[in-house]
Amino acid sequence: MVSTPSRIAEELLRHRRILIVSHVDPDGDTIGSALGLAWALRSLGREVLMGCDDPVPEEAAALPGADEFSSSPPQDVDAIVAVDASDERRMGSLFRPSAERGGPLIVIDHHITNGGYGDLNLVMDTSATAEIVLLVVDALGVSLDATIARCLLTGVVTDTQGFRTASTTANSLAAAQRLMAAGADLVEISNQAFNRRSLSMLSLWGRALTAAEMRSGVLWAELPLAWLPQGNSDGQVGSGLANLLNTVREARVSALFTEQDDGLIDVSIRAKPGYDVSGVALAFGGGGHAGAAGCQVKGSLAGVREAVVDALTRLVNTQG
Ligand code: AMP
Ligand code: MN
Ligand code: MN
Repeated sequence: MVSTPSRIAEELLRHRRILIVSHVDPDGDTIGSALGLAWALRSLGREVLMGCDDPVPEEAAALPGADEFSSSPPQDVDAIVAVDASDERRMGSLFRPSAERGGPLIVIDHHITNGGYGDLNLVMDTSATAEIVLLVVDALGVSLDATIARCLLTGVVTDTQGFRTASTTANSLAAAQRLMAAGADLVEISNQAFNRRSLSMLSLWGRALTAAEMRSGVLWAELPLAWLPQGNSDGQVGSGLANLLNTVREARVSALFTEQDDGLIDVSIRAKPGYDVSGVALAFGGGGHAGAAGCQVKGSLAGVREAVVDALTRLVNTQG
């Protein structure tokens, strides 16, 4: 069932001890949304715990509370909130089937591929989940402070790549305006999100770009495991390079294939406005948005690349 911000606020207020879960391979939106909601609930005297399977990325690492995320948070909670996770697998090991949950699972998300896996689902077509969390904070009756605003603006800025994606709307800007007026520093947040790349990562991108290929409007590049630094978490290398690929003029859609050490290939897909790649990601077991989607597929780098490039070529031929 699709819910409303006020229904979600009402449900949250019924519970005392709440776990907020960010998605695996987290980004600024899932972390910023979780923390924005956490600080709002704490201002109302609620006990809030933070959970995430993977480490917080650089773009969100300086946010107040970013060091609280645990991959094994306590399970004796009254309610669980998943933010920015389009399906239960995105909650990783922190997902519990309904029979094993003490309280409700509340899903707050903005992915068009979200099928509504929670007991309450607040799924809206916004540029970032943080935009929806702002509505929930309003419905909770919490007035914005600089901490909540900073967390939520980080979500909006990172998911819109600095208000440049096709998903950016007048509402995203209105939300950002309110968050800045409440004390969030846009320049600091943007610097944290976009201007902190390591030279070694750019060199890695250079290597991948040198070998990139394009056919019929489909551009792709690869990051074989042997090129990656040990302990690499995909999000930090992959998402930025995927966004960069999509800036190539002739590319209609682009894909980055990153070989993981668990036998899966991480696929980051991007599209120019007018194309919708979320269906291709969904077909390969992932999900996402029209312009940015992804999946993790079992197989060899060459095998997965061939299958996905094939699907994207068909998409360009039909949607173009
Ligand atoms: P990325 O390429 O990792 O930056 O992801 C682009 C978009 O696709 C983001 O909105 C992700 O949440 C989404 N996405 C990536 N992988 C998956 C997956 N396995 N399942 C669902 N959504 C995904
Ligand atoms: Mn996300
Ligand atoms: Mn998001």
